Amino acid sequence: MKKIFLFITALLMLASCGVQKAEDNGKIDVYASFYPVYDFARTIGGDDINLSAVVRSGAEPHGFEPTAADIAKISESDVFLYHGNGTDAWAEKIAETLPDSVMKVRLSDADTIAKGDAHTWLSLQNAEGELEAVCKALTEADENGENDAKYSDRLNDYTAKLDALKAEYDAANLTAVPLAAAHDAYRALCYETAMNYLPIDSVTGGEPSPAQLAEVVKSIKDKGAKYIFYDPIDGDKLAESAAREAGIETAELYAFEGDNENRDYETVMRFNLEQLKKSK
Ligand SMILES: [Zn+2]
Repeated sequence: MKKIFLFITALLMLASCGVQKAEDNGKIDVYASFYPVYDFARTIGGDDINLSAVVRSGAEPHGFEPTAADIAKISESDVFLYHGNGTDAWAEKIAETLPDSVMKVRLSDADTIAKGDAHTWLSLQNAEGELEAVCKALTEADENGENDAKYSDRLNDYTAKLDALKAEYDAANLTAVPLAAAHDAYRALCYETAMNYLPIDSVTGGEPSPAQLAEVVKSIKDKGAKYIFYDPIDGDKLAESAAREAGIETAELYAFEGDNENRDYETVMRFNLEQLKKSK
């Protein structure tokens, strides 16, 4: 009886080893600093990579600090993708300390619009460049050549979707339409659409005093903004107080810094277009 028990235990141990091996099935391990980077890697890599995000998808990324355990995991990965320009400042710092065995890719290096801004992925043209940079990185890092065509097919399909969406943004003719936003995330988007940008938190440096708020509200009224936009991930407190002062409404606009619904970039930017059209 004891022998049979030991035999079964040994079988179970073998089986569990087998399961662990099946999970590590030769795919490359990719870490993405935060949500837009994670989403772009998911779009290109699909099921052919093991992908993890360091900042969880529903979290606001500014001010995030990685734990020692986070850094240890990234150090053992094949590819570390980060954005650069400040929103994932922690990633920029740790990229310099990671071992040579980890390929480090700074996606904002591929930007062509509003270069250096902290939220450049909100330009569709920049997003296309960043997706291309992800595709190049995965192709280089992945020794399984069969995946190369899958990565480039996904890039081509998604770029076509973004080109179509860009044509819809152009057709909406948002030139000079005011975009008032609680969080200063839409500089690149306004550069691309030629919208009249009125950010609140950069003008006042975070929580505005009553006098500062009054000054921003005056310019929002002068420019004829219909809404003050906020991203639900930041909460609506600042937008609500500014909108109350201005006598206008608040509305949602996503900066895609994180997403509670785990949506992809094209879906969110399509929603944003409908919100911006209401501003005309
Ligand atoms: Zn931000």
